[in-house]
This record gives sequence, structure tokens and C-alpha cells, in this order.
Amino acid sequence: MGRKVVVDQERCVGCGNCQSLCPEVFRLDLELAKSQVIKPEGGPDCVQEAMDSCPGGAISWQEG
Ligand code: SF4
Repeated sequence: MGRKVVVDQERCVGCGNCQSLCPEVFRLDLELAKSQVIKPEGGPDCVQEAMDSCPGGAISWQEG
């Protein structure tokens, strides 16, 4: 039930925008240089900001 935030690991280029804009939900794994979702249920509107600022188009909502 409900939707969750997902980061497509193949599309993520590790820029860190999502973490900067929305640290509650995203964390950049520095070793992998990929963003990890640490709060899949999302949070405030910053998820949308992160989506809009993701150069890889890697962030999306998945209906669950
Ligand atoms: S903004 Fe997009 S490309 Fe950049 S780290 Fe986050 S998910 Fe990856």
C-alpha cells in the first residue's frame, strides 16, 4: 500500500543533488557514487525538488 521513492541505480550519476535538496530521504553512497533511498515513504515536497534536479532522471515514485 502506498507509494515509495526509488532511485534507478543505473541512471544515477552520483551528483549528490538529491541529498543536498532532500537529506531526509536520500543519501549519496560515496563508495558506490550512487544515491540510496533512506526513507522510501518520502517526506516533504523536497522529493519533487530532487526529482526535478536529478540529471539522470533516476528518481521516481513506485506504486506499491
Ligand atoms: S540527483 Fe539523481 S543522479 Fe544525482 S545523486 Fe541523486 S539520484 Fe543520482
